[in-house]
Amino acid sequence: MQEVKNSQPIFSIVVPVHNEEETIQIFYDAVQSLKQSLPVTLHYHFVDDGSTDQTLAILRTLSNQDSNVHFLSFSRNFGKEAALYAGLQQADGDFVAVMDVDLQDPPELLPDMLSPVMAGEYDAVGTRRADRKGEARLRSWFSEQFYVWMNKISQTQLVDGARDYRVMTRQMVDAVLDLSENQRFSKGIFSWVGFKTKYLPFENRERVEGETSWSFWALTKYAIEGIVSFSTVPLTFITVVGFTSFCLSILSAIFIVCRALIDNHSVAGWPSMVTIILFIGGIQLLSLGVIGRYIAAIFLETKRRPIYVKKEEK
Ligand code: UDP
Ligand code: MG
Repeated sequence: MQEVKNSQPIFSIVVPVHNEEETIQIFYDAVQSLKQSLPVTLHYHFVDDGSTDQTLAILRTLSNQDSNVHFLSFSRNFGKEAALYAGLQQADGDFVAVMDVDLQDPPELLPDMLSPVMAGEYDAVGTRRADRKGEARLRSWFSEQFYVWMNKISQTQLVDGARDYRVMTRQMVDAVLDLSENQRFSKGIFSWVGFKTKYLPFENRERVEGETSWSFWALTKYAIEGIVSFSTVPLTFITVVGFTSFCLSILSAIFIVCRALIDNHSVAGWPSMVTIILFIGGIQLLSLGVIGRYIAAIFLETKRRPIYVKKEEK
């Protein structure tokens, strides 16, 4: 029989971790130090996303020391999106937070995020980086462009600089879990399910320890996934080749016009012919690549593979 528990609501914190042996303890200590300001019972749900370092061992030790620490370990690296999904499935709280382990999602915001949700004013409180301090210029530029274009071509609106870091009600978490698609793009999913959401801006910060697992290429792929749903490298390649030859044709068209204006020694007709061939060929390849991306997404989704494979759970 279940004994009567204390009346405090349960607040689950979902944390995906991938090779984070240096950061887990720091993260845990930082959140524990806030315990007094959170009128809830804290439950941790770490998801070890196929780490190859001591991450899992550290999680085992931590959960032996604190019965409120739960973890789940994948059979290999499935990516942060899969880890988030698994963590949300395991989380049993009345309120659920999702955050990174590297303290780039400042734990001290938690009380301010939780209180409007607990008071019923909002269904979710998200966070938004107010600046991109410490990030390479080019990288910032690309992410800004991503948000601008994504919001233009999609009904689902994304908030620029929004992080995955958020607090949600049980109701919203259940809605997110109902979207069980394979190729997950959480930023879009959180926005798609709706609910009244508030965004707290905060100053960007560097991770405490370790290194980011996101390369520029990884981010690019993630962005494309957000638009179509998944990435298949050869199709991307076709798209890039198509686009390049299209650009070249434009450049050469400009060049030909300028040269014809100045002085023209070449056989009449051939440069413009090459330009037209390049142009049409480029457009065709580009379109094929784009169509291919959508077919790839359908292909991957129809396999109905599980989002992750579990190896260990506590
Ligand atoms: N992460 C994960 N699986 C991955 C890559 C990252 O679970 O394949 C976790 C990582 O441990 C961290 C969070 O996702 O808790 C964010 O990762 P990271 O700090 O590397 O990304 P960034 O902050 O640079 O976007
Ligand atoms: Mg980080």
